[in-house]
Amino acid sequence: MTMERRDFLKLIGAGVGVGASGALFAQSSGQRVVVVGGGFGGATAAKYLKLKNPGLNVVLIEPNRQYVSCPLSNEVLGGEATIEHLTFGYDGLKKRGVTLVHDTVTAIDPQARKVTVSGGNTFTYDRAIVAPGIDFRWDAIKGYDEAASHAIPHAYKAGAQTTLLANQLKSMKDGGVVIITVPEYPFRCPPGPYERASMIAHYLKHHKPRSKIIILDAKESFSKQGLFMQGWKQHYEGMIEWVSGSKGGEVESVDVATRTVSSAVGNKHPADVLNIIPPQYAGKIAHTTGLVDPKGWCPVNVRTFESTQHPGIHVIGDASMAGAMPRSGYSANSQAKVAAAAVIASLRGVPAGEPSFINACYSMIAPEHGISITNVYMVKDKQLIEVPGAGGISPMDATPEFRKLEVVHAKSWFRNVTTDMFT
Ligand SMILES: Cc1cc2nc3c(=O)[nH]c(=O)nc-3n(C[C@H](O)[C@H](O)[C@H](O)COP(=O)(O)OP(=O)(O)OC[C@H]3O[C@@H](n4cnc5c(N)ncnc54)[C@H](O)[C@@H]3O)c2cc1C
Repeated sequence: MTMERRDFLKLIGAGVGVGASGALFAQSSGQRVVVVGGGFGGATAAKYLKLKNPGLNVVLIEPNRQYVSCPLSNEVLGGEATIEHLTFGYDGLKKRGVTLVHDTVTAIDPQARKVTVSGGNTFTYDRAIVAPGIDFRWDAIKGYDEAASHAIPHAYKAGAQTTLLANQLKSMKDGGVVIITVPEYPFRCPPGPYERASMIAHYLKHHKPRSKIIILDAKESFSKQGLFMQGWKQHYEGMIEWVSGSKGGEVESVDVATRTVSSAVGNKHPADVLNIIPPQYAGKIAHTTGLVDPKGWCPVNVRTFESTQHPGIHVIGDASMAGAMPRSGYSANSQAKVAAAAVIASLRGVPAGEPSFINACYSMIAPEHGISITNVYMVKDKQLIEVPGAGGISPMDATPEFRKLEVVHAKSWFRNVTTDMFT
C-alpha cells in the first residue's frame, strides 16, 4: 500500500467523506496555499493539505507559538484540567513540511491573491483558507470593552482569560455570587456557558459551598437544557439559578468598578465574580477582507467552504456560516478536511467531491457525569442539514455508568482531535 493510500484511508477513518478521488493523490509544483489562523480549523487544514499533496507549498500564519484549546478550558475552572493540558505547539506540522509564520495577517487582497502580515512581509497564494475564529462585539454591552475584560474576564478565548477567571474564583469568599452572562445566538460552543456553570459549581461545592451562580441568559432556552438541569439538580441543588431573556436575563450594561450587571428590564445584579460572554462575530481579518455579511459572519458555498464573496478564499470554522452545524472545534476540524480536499481538487482543475461532516459536543456536568450531542451533516439544496436519524443526544434516563463513560469519551475525543490537528 502506498503512503498516500494509507493517508487516504486515515482520512476516511476520521469520519469525513470526500469524493475527490484522483485529486487527493495529486502532486503539484510551485502552487501555494496560505492558511490564516492555526486553531481547530486552520491547523487541521494545513495538515490535511500536506497529507493529501506533499508537494504543495503550505504556509500557515498564526501569531502565537502555542495554541491554547477552549475545549476542556471550563474543566480548568473546575480543577479537572490544567492550562498545560490544553496547550499545543506547531512542531508536528513543521515536521510535515508546513511552513509556519508566527505573525498576524493584517490584509488579504483577493484580487492580487496576496496576504500581508504585520511585519510587512507578503505571501501570494493560489488558494487561501481563512480560519480566524471569532472576535467580540465590544460595542454590544455598555461599559464592557476589551480593556474591561482584563478585570472582568470573558474566558471565551482560552489562556490568560481562563487563568484570570480561575484565580478570581479562588479568591472569592465562601457565600459569594458568581454571575455568568450569555448572549443571543450565534456564538461559539452553544453548550459552553452551561458546562462552565457546572464546572464552577463543582469547584464551589467542594471549596465554597455557601456560594451561588446566576446565569443571565439573553435566550429562552439552551443546548442540552433538560440534561443540564437534571445534572444541576442531582449535583448542585439550589446552587445554580438560570434566568431567561424574558425573565430579565438580557444584559444591557456593566459597571466594571462595582462588578454590577444591569439587565434590559432594569434589574441590577452585583457579583463577586463576573464572567461576561459578549456577543460575537467572525474574526477581524474576515471583516477587513470583506468576507462577512451584514451580520458579521462569512457566507460560503457549503460544498467547498469557498467564500461566496471572494473566490479563491475558503473560510472555515467559527467564522463561517455553516447552516445546521454549531460553531465547535469538531465542526471546524471536519470542515477543514472538506475544504482541504476542495482546494486540492480545484488546484488540479477537477470538481470537488460530495462532502460529509460530523460534530459531537461533549459537556462535563461533574467529574463522572458527562453528556453529549452528535450529528452528521450533508449538503441539500445548497444548505448544510443534519442527516436524518444519524445523530443523537444522551438519554435523560441514562445509568451512572453511562454518564461516567461519556466523560471517558469526552477526554478521548479531546486527545484524538488534538492529535489529529497537531501531529
Ligand atoms: C469555553 C469553551 C469550551 C468549548 N468546548 C468545546 C468542546 O468541548 N468541543 C468543541 O468541539 N468545541 C468547543 N468549543 C468551541 C471551539 O473552541 C471553537 O469552535 C473552535 O476553536 C473554532 O475553531 P477555529 O479554527 O474557527 O477558531 P480558533 O480555534 O479560535 O482558531 C483561530 C486562530 O486564528 C488565529 N488568528 C485570528 N486572527 C488572525 C490573523 N489576523 N492572522 C493570523 N492568525 C489569526 C488565532 O490566533 C487563533 O489561533 C469551546 C469554546 C469555548 C469558548
